Amino acid sequence: MRYSPKPSMDTRSPRKIQGTSVSPGLAVGPVRIVGAQPKEVPVWSVAASEVQREIARLREALKTASDEMQRRSRIVALQSSERDAQIFEVHRLILSDPGALKQVEGAIRTEHINAEAAVYQFITKLESTLGQRMEGDSVRAYAADLSDPWRAVLEALGQGGLQDLLSQDQDLILAAANLTPHVMTLLGRDRLLAVIAEKGGRFSHAAVLARSFGVPCVVGLPNLLGRMEPGMVVAVDGQRGTVQINPDPEALLRFQELKAGASARAAVLLAQAPKPALTSDGVRLLVQANIESLRDLDEFDATHTDGVGLLRTEFLYMERPQLPSEDEQYRLYRRVLEHMHPLPVTLRTLDIGGDKQIASLKTPGESNPALGWRGVRVSLEWQDLLRIQLRAALRAGSGRNLRILLPMVSSVEEVHRARSIFDSVRTALLEQGHEVEADVPVGIMVEVPSAVLCLPELIRHVDFVSVGTNDLVQYLLAVDRDNPWVAKLYQPLHPAVIYSLHSVALTSRAAGKSCAVCGDIAEDPGVATMLLGMGYDKVSVAPSFIPEIKSMLRNVEHADAVRLAKDALACTETGLVEAVLSKFRETNRLL
Ligand code: PEP
Ligand code: MG
Repeated sequence: MRYSPKPSMDTRSPRKIQGTSVSPGLAVGPVRIVGAQPKEVPVWSVAASEVQREIARLREALKTASDEMQRRSRIVALQSSERDAQIFEVHRLILSDPGALKQVEGAIRTEHINAEAAVYQFITKLESTLGQRMEGDSVRAYAADLSDPWRAVLEALGQGGLQDLLSQDQDLILAAANLTPHVMTLLGRDRLLAVIAEKGGRFSHAAVLARSFGVPCVVGLPNLLGRMEPGMVVAVDGQRGTVQINPDPEALLRFQELKAGASARAAVLLAQAPKPALTSDGVRLLVQANIESLRDLDEFDATHTDGVGLLRTEFLYMERPQLPSEDEQYRLYRRVLEHMHPLPVTLRTLDIGGDKQIASLKTPGESNPALGWRGVRVSLEWQDLLRIQLRAALRAGSGRNLRILLPMVSSVEEVHRARSIFDSVRTALLEQGHEVEADVPVGIMVEVPSAVLCLPELIRHVDFVSVGTNDLVQYLLAVDRDNPWVAKLYQPLHPAVIYSLHSVALTSRAAGKSCAVCGDIAEDPGVATMLLGMGYDKVSVAPSFIPEIKSMLRNVEHADAVRLAKDALACTETGLVEAVLSKFRETNRLL
């Protein structure tokens, strides 16, 4: 357990910390700590006028923890025995000890610290006092038993904080120990200024969300929570990956100027966004949008895009407590298809598993979820899920431009099985009198090395492919995209990735099939140009990146893109590929 030091005056002085950029953009505003690990109990000082409020928070958390124990006690009594349930009653008694409460409240009053810190101090004292007085495993176990209920209070303090957070209407920057999808979705997007975290992967699913929301995000900020106090102002530069704590008026002014410059530049790019991404000698790259949520639809103009290249349907499921019925899905998909019409919508079937869990459908706990039950593997096992989703999609696609994309395909057998389900769903719909398009293209994500290697065979059975580099990189390099410990080794520009991308383009072109990249690597305008040079006809990215990519492509010739791809392919190290790309960006600087 880490006990962060009480903030000294030093942490209040202006201070810049360098982290890793996850999502560009500039934001300045008050910060709020969320999702602190129990191991990393935050400590901050509480003003005299706030002490009573902090004590009220503590009491509320005690009540929440005690109610939760009562609830668990009832469940255990039903599922096991009254005897087993008694432990929760004992825990509730421990929490109602007035002596303990007096100590914890006393710490808040006299030391002016937050409730979490006071509870944690109490737990540490309790465990060490018992440990010093008596020795032996049973004593240690007893000490742990006595402190356990107080750990539940710590947890409840986190929860209480969240409820309080949700009920306020202030715009905030969230600071977390770890960047997770949960943290990204805590606040409505209209109130979320930026997210900063001690740990998190640049290509994790949470990072994908940050970019899709267009919310500035920086991770890899050491001891961030230890430096934070609620309400503290921070300035986040998502592009440079910096966080400035308590900027002084001069720094604030500079930051605001930077922000105004960035907004002016964005406005120019946006005004040109409806124009196609045509190189100066007339070669076109289709630039499509990745959509995670229906809210995305309200926030971007379909005419800036060449359609939706990736509709991540799992996020539509995540937004509701129950599995959506066929009709609900039909309505959701229909809305997207209508909004985009006549442009295509590439609907990816459910890609749950790993860190993408949905409340209404728990996949089993796995020790290695990235290599586990994910994507099409789940759909082929729980076939009703796939059937219902395909029924809804095919119905919604009537008279509209629908394409179906299968995630995490690793073998030809999976394609055969999924296609045969697709065919039987289609036949059943027609028999039931539904209108279904005669030709709905079915494609696969190429995001597993076996799909790259077996593509010459796979491509014969599909209509198009889309490379999911977020996953492909993790599986090619054996580096978990969500594991902060190996974040440095997660290298999207590793030569193995560049060779694989090239091989997919060559195979697809030889087969005369469309190939796209829908992983986040394509958000970089230089990379998008390189992909065109390799032979890709499409990229699909979070909507906020579209104007810049289009602008870059309109400024180059096709021969430049081919040369760039060739130069990148000649590199034997990641750093060299990066250097080739930065030189390209430098010579083709936008605006
Ligand atoms: C990918 O893996 O690149 C991809 C687009 O899918 P996701 O990020 O949803 O796993
Ligand atoms: Mg993927």
